[in-house]
Amino acid sequence: MPDDTPARPPQGDQTVTAPAKRAGRKVKASVLVDLDLCKACGICISLCPERVFDRDEDGCAVAARQQDCTACRLCEWHCPDFAIEVRAERSAAEEDA
Ligand code: SF4
Ligand code: SF4
Repeated sequence: MPDDTPARPPQGDQTVTAPAKRAGRKVKASVLVDLDLCKACGICISLCPERVFDRDEDGCAVAARQQDCTACRLCEWHCPDFAIEVRAERSAAEEDA
């Protein structure tokens, strides 16, 4: 299935791809935070059920534990400044299924 996430140029250097679990399946999820847009409100940090985020020295969100991300997109949908992009890819096992 193609990734239908709207294209937005990532900025900063927080892109890490790591395996995550969703509904018992392995997925790859990447969480990108645009530090030029983030205003350090903390909404994503509070909402994330997997506690993926930490704050940097300016209070901005840092996706420090991307391996725990389930690609639920709560952070992306609730960020008031559209500073987060979550990319999820199906695993090779799912592609073969
Ligand atoms: S919700 Fe958006 S603006 Fe607020 S801390 Fe998270 S990334 Fe930054
Ligand atoms: S997509 Fe969900 S699990 Fe992943 S960082 Fe955002 S809120 Fe947390």
